[in-house]
Amino acid sequence: MAQRLIYLDNNATTPTDPRVVDTMVPYFYEKHGNAASRNHPFGWEAEEAVDYAREQVAALIDVDPKEIIFTSGATESDNLALKGVFEMYARKGNHIITVKTEHKAVLDSCQRLEKDGAEVTYLEVEANGRIDLAKLEAAIKDSTILISVMWANNETGTIQPMKEIGELCAKHGILFMSDATQAVGKIPVHPKELGIHLMAFTAHKMYGPKGVGALFVNRKSPRVKVTAQMDGGGHERGMRSGTLNVPAIVGFGKAAELAKLEMAEDTRRLSGLRDKLEKSLMAQLEEVYINGDPTNRMPHVTNLSFKHVEGEGLMMTFNQNIALSSGSACTSASLEPSYVLIAMGLGDDLAHSSLRFSLGRFTTEDDIDFTIEAIRKGVNHMRDLSPIWEMYKEGIDLESVQWSEH
Ligand SMILES: *Cc1c(COP(=O)(O)O)cnc(C)c1O
Repeated sequence: MAQRLIYLDNNATTPTDPRVVDTMVPYFYEKHGNAASRNHPFGWEAEEAVDYAREQVAALIDVDPKEIIFTSGATESDNLALKGVFEMYARKGNHIITVKTEHKAVLDSCQRLEKDGAEVTYLEVEANGRIDLAKLEAAIKDSTILISVMWANNETGTIQPMKEIGELCAKHGILFMSDATQAVGKIPVHPKELGIHLMAFTAHKMYGPKGVGALFVNRKSPRVKVTAQMDGGGHERGMRSGTLNVPAIVGFGKAAELAKLEMAEDTRRLSGLRDKLEKSLMAQLEEVYINGDPTNRMPHVTNLSFKHVEGEGLMMTFNQNIALSSGSACTSASLEPSYVLIAMGLGDDLAHSSLRFSLGRFTTEDDIDFTIEAIRKGVNHMRDLSPIWEMYKEGIDLESVQWSEH
């Protein structure tokens, strides 16, 4: 019998929509031109296709197509925005504010900038994963040139108060950048309405191909500029050199068009399935906690902690059938608890007992029913074997137990 395999790891990457693949295929074959070849029909055709995709992507987020810079993905877009602004605005100041729960593409770029003379403030988050606006305002200095806050968190789906942050940035005349990778294509994202000046996102988290992303750069009032991080032919209005990945860009455009058309329906269906999953597990199992803000969050994500159950072990009970992520990050030697959950104040034990379920366009109700049953069985199995769970059930205060070092 064929193994059933259910994919609930859409925040890691989404499957490519077959309609996206179909639009890409001709650009590997007869339409193989280089979009920068100005003197023959192959080049013209490729350039036209890129222009059209740029319009599709711009339409999804309601910006001018000239404000879209194609990159190799959100990692590159984050790097270009942060490093590009730091270099371009060096004379105005060297202070950047970001948040502890950002993606590594932002955090590691900031760390690199610290070596190059930047001063970076990494804001704490509240227990629900959102930043406190008063703390943000208190962190602003005369030398602050950029505030970078992600739209929605990849691990919890928690959405930050983007409108209020935009207002603070406008009040203090500071550039506002957002890694909106997890939000674009899933919920309405209109950076200009919120005063966002730079925004990173990627195709492979919205049913497009891997290896292509975009950076939105505001062009009017203010006209924002970033220093290119790649030297070469001066493509993408001088901000990102390198021959354009035409098939991928065409696919990105199609993915954006489909997202715009189908977002409302996907949201309605997936939030229903997500709520069913969450409610069923919480009704059928004791000591299950939602990590993140239950109201301000993405419709297709839930991050749950199953107390006294080690997430990686739990996953092994069903990972032949269900693909998802745990709250532990595998580093070379050890399992580290997720820094996002730790920043929210979870103890190591609850962080290690968390699982992230991220649903997607191709998730079915059947998938969710199967998952509820598998998780229920897995958690009960793990707890049946656990002396800690037994002690907890006997009412022993686990905090007061003296554990010996091993
Ligand atoms: C996936 C992800 C990225 C990285 O995107 P790539 O296109 O894979 O480089 C950056 N930020 C967030 C929030 C993400 O979820």
